[in-house]
Amino acid sequence: MEHVPGRSINLAMSVRGRTGLRAAGVETQIVERHGIAMRGRMIHAPDGTSRSMPYNREGKCIYSVGRRFVNEVLLSRAEEFPNVTLHFNHKLESCDLERGGMTFTKTVTGEKVTAEADLMIGCDGAFSNVRKHMLKRPHFNYKQEYIPHGYMELCIPATPDGEFAMPPNYLHIWPRGHYMMIALPNQDKSWTVTLFMPFNIFHTLTTPEILIDFFQCSPYHVGSKSLILGDAAHAMVPFYGQGMNCGMEDCVVLDEMLDLCGDDLAMALPAYSSKRNKDAEAIVDLAMYNYVEMRDLVNSPLFLLRKKLDDFLSVILPGRWQPLYSMVTFSRRPYSSCIADKAWQDKVIGQACRVMGVACGAVMAVAGMQAGLKLRVHGDDELGTSAHQVEIE
Ligand SMILES: Cc1cc2nc3c(=O)[nH]c(=O)nc-3n(C[C@H](O)[C@H](O)[C@H](O)COP(=O)(O)OP(=O)(O)OC[C@H]3O[C@@H](n4cnc5c(N)ncnc54)[C@H](O)[C@@H]3O)c2cc1C
Repeated sequence: MEHVPGRSINLAMSVRGRTGLRAAGVETQIVERHGIAMRGRMIHAPDGTSRSMPYNREGKCIYSVGRRFVNEVLLSRAEEFPNVTLHFNHKLESCDLERGGMTFTKTVTGEKVTAEADLMIGCDGAFSNVRKHMLKRPHFNYKQEYIPHGYMELCIPATPDGEFAMPPNYLHIWPRGHYMMIALPNQDKSWTVTLFMPFNIFHTLTTPEILIDFFQCSPYHVGSKSLILGDAAHAMVPFYGQGMNCGMEDCVVLDEMLDLCGDDLAMALPAYSSKRNKDAEAIVDLAMYNYVEMRDLVNSPLFLLRKKLDDFLSVILPGRWQPLYSMVTFSRRPYSSCIADKAWQDKVIGQACRVMGVACGAVMAVAGMQAGLKLRVHGDDELGTSAHQVEIE
């Protein structure tokens, strides 16, 4: 899924909007030719199952239409009238409600322009400037209430074979109690997905990894009334000695989430599940890995060499190189980061070994040439083995 900046790409068009479009003579163009019918809701449950819910027994439907397309068609329609002139990039600064006088700033040049009208209609949106002027007058009631929820728009692209990734004739909904996600289909077979959520939960999604985890996480809570911690949530084999440690850290993380969400359980529990899930899964995997390490790897010379190298690197690179066991046992680095760091360390050491191998090979080749040595290799093919003998003449 990709994040799409800006306001929603598509809109659900129903009978009232269609009536307006019909009056303007563009209903067929917008709804019938361009719109995608959504005959019901498709509800996606947390366990991955989905069920459809028709809007109407008679088969009536709503349509997904592109916001930009609707704007463009309506503007083109308006331009067809000889008495209509369109002025773009003019910001209304002030107006005289009784006289119909207006002052604009041209947003491109900064120039101020004035105009007068027989009728001034303020269609300047939720933060209307015209409304602000009206509010200065008596008898205008006004109430504004900000809800602690925001939204983020995302996109599910078409499949590689150019098809919709989900059944198209639905408004898809992922209801999750205090937040939800919806998806409307687009003409190009993509989906515009909108995630509506309390800001506090948005604020916990600080990295792409946490966001992915938020979508994938298996929750440890149900609603705002129940939660599992410790072994109830993530029982593991005992070989890392982390079961109780991890359970205690669960409490610390829960406390952090409660602080972040102002003690609102409905927000803190999903935030906790989302944050903790990948780390709990990581320590479950690490505990099993440590079983292999304890029963087998500790005898391996390569493992022991690696351990010595780890210790050496942690001395010469303090704070930058920490062996896995230390990260898990002596730090509060998230368990999932410990695994990621170990993978990075393995890669660095692997590359260093390759570079050293090539360098040693080159040095030996140069030394061999200088000594005038010839290498002859015999294969023991008759015996069917791959053993080779190297003779130095
Ligand atoms: C995420 C989201 C999804 C939505 N989905 C739907 C849906 O599915 N179906 C539906 O019916 N509705 C939907 N809506 C609501 C819908 O978008 C609005 O109700 C609709 O756009 C309002 O239209 P409007 O013309 O009144 O205001 P706006 O669309 O806000 O247009 C106002 C215009 O005035 C301009 N303007 C503002 N201030 C000034 C100024 N000082 N000077 C000059 N120009 C100015 C703005 O630039 C803008 O062009 C949704 C809204 C959101 C946020």
